[in-house]
Amino acid sequence: MDINIAKPLMKVDVAQVLDLLADKRKVVIAQTAPSVRVALGEPFSLPIGADVTKKLVTALRRVGFAAVFDTNFGADCTIVEESTEFLKKLREGGPFPQFTSCCIGWVSLAERTYHELLPFISSTKSPLGCLGSIAKTYYASLLNRSPKDIVVVSIVPCILKKNENKLPYNTTDGIPDVDFSLTTKELASILYLEDIDFKNLPDGEFDSPIGESTGSGMVFGIQGGVLESCLRCAEYYDSGRKNLDQFVFTPSIYSPDIKETKFLFHGKEYLACKTGLAGIRVIYEQVKNNTCPYALIEVMACPGGCIMGAGQPLHLPSEGISPLKVKELRTETVKEITASYKNQISAENESLGKVYETLFDGKPGSEKALANLHRKR
Ligand code: SF4
Repeated sequence: MDINIAKPLMKVDVAQVLDLLADKRKVVIAQTAPSVRVALGEPFSLPIGADVTKKLVTALRRVGFAAVFDTNFGADCTIVEESTEFLKKLREGGPFPQFTSCCIGWVSLAERTYHELLPFISSTKSPLGCLGSIAKTYYASLLNRSPKDIVVVSIVPCILKKNENKLPYNTTDGIPDVDFSLTTKELASILYLEDIDFKNLPDGEFDSPIGESTGSGMVFGIQGGVLESCLRCAEYYDSGRKNLDQFVFTPSIYSPDIKETKFLFHGKEYLACKTGLAGIRVIYEQVKNNTCPYALIEVMACPGGCIMGAGQPLHLPSEGISPLKVKELRTETVKEITASYKNQISAENESLGKVYETLFDGKPGSEKALANLHRKR
């Protein structure tokens, strides 16, 4: 087997997950983030950015997971909640800005350094947290099992997601939404250890009922995706219009790291922007001085978004390919997969709609949805 990681690292959570997979008293399920499927092929000599979604599902089943769910479903859930929060602000005239909440690198920075910004960050849990919470409530009840019997393992592009699981507010009824996070590289190590011939695996399909998703869930993997998904969903909830137009981003005059776009709400023009951490210092001062021009701000700590997270396979200069090229190839594939979905707006996810009917009084932002799908700091 061909693999570009020197030696598998048996980190504590890798070993714990392997032990749990052998424990028949537990239902150990996997959920896999959008970015993992465009990078996991790389350690197995597949082209950079190859779409390995279906092999990834089969690989996780071979490793022993009882079910494999798509975090894109959780991303749709994050969007319906986050866009509902945002729509309320648009209708009530603020307070603005609203920051996105799914990047743990950004949220951790705010929690450590920019406490003044915390009230402006959407309270919605990340896609991993939303799916984890639904798995331990809705899916557990379908199986007639206690939430404590369900172990949720997230496969992620991000080393910081390991910390997210430990935060006390990422829980539902006192139970952590996600138990373990394994990075793309760690999963590659496990597949290597288990002697799984990844390159030649047959295709697999995500399990239902929490495996369905829309293009809006998939596009979370790249910078700007969360912002676009949130704006589209808010417009859909407000007017029923399915706006699939491309958003045009231009550099901001405030910082080269900030790229802004315009949108209309009831005839009034607003600004939204996407930024990395470099733009946050500028926006922090604007928010403190009450001069922030943006209504919605997406922050992604990794340049390019989660596809370039620190848990993804690394390509050293000796390979002769630049990080920019890696980003471009993975981005292209995320866009191709996104375009392949029948539905493009998170509110169109029918399986998610059924979960809302069962658990959350049929609508985003309900009291029950706020209890399970939002952080309480
Ligand atoms: S952008 Fe980077 S730090 Fe933020 S969630 Fe994605 S991988 Fe993690």
